Amino acid sequence: MLEENVALEENLAKVKENIKAACERAGRDAGEVTLVAVSKMKPLEDIETLLKVGQLEYGENYVQELCEKEEHVSRPVHWHMIGHLQTNKVKYIIDKVVLIHSVDSVHLAKQIEKEAAKKNITAQILLQVNVAEEDTKFGMDTDEVLRMAEEISQFPHVHIRGLMTSAPFVEDPEENRCYFRKLHKLFVDIGEKNIDNVTMDILSMGMTNDYEVAIEEGATMVRVGTGIFGERDYNK
Ligand SMILES: *Cc1c(COP(=O)(O)O)cnc(C)c1O
Repeated sequence: MLEENVALEENLAKVKENIKAACERAGRDAGEVTLVAVSKMKPLEDIETLLKVGQLEYGENYVQELCEKEEHVSRPVHWHMIGHLQTNKVKYIIDKVVLIHSVDSVHLAKQIEKEAAKKNITAQILLQVNVAEEDTKFGMDTDEVLRMAEEISQFPHVHIRGLMTSAPFVEDPEENRCYFRKLHKLFVDIGEKNIDNVTMDILSMGMTNDYEVAIEEGATMVRVGTGIFGERDYNK
């Protein structure tokens, strides 16, 4: 038990070191990159362990799991909704998360607007882009992001903060470099349009397998699960 906890803290420290090294290679300040620890399918005790060493940002994919952890955690943490979100579940998480990474349609953004208005809050969101055009992945097509950003920017209780992608699963992370580069370019291009109510300051890309490449290509937020918590058991 004790040994496991030590491993978690060591894993976290190692990932942070890698982030720092990637930033150095790219001539960036390590303070520009936020590490979201992806705790999906991992017990609350793991989060409690990392809270003790100051890790505050956690990513979850499933609404019910996020709500349960939020209810029982010993002190407030910053929850990030990173998984596909159904419109009928928005109401459960709207006032619990600091950022929704996975907004992939105007329809979903409209529902977020509705629920945020009810609570009198402004939801912070990212637009999820299927930059590699994978059939199996959620996300907007690259060529529709600008139009959707303009449309969603009209919603007063929704604030677009940037873009997110989940790159393909590949053996060699270098294969994803082109997608990270493409998303970074789109991020900069949309930022330069200075759309009202859109602030392009968060670029969420990079997971355990490829976060270092993502940072070299401009990620400001990386989402690391396995590299911190170990393999997930999907058969549980
Ligand atoms: C599961 C998941 C992650 C973390 O994946 P790892 O490979 O375990 O680091 C990051 N982002 C999203 C959207 C995920 O679903």
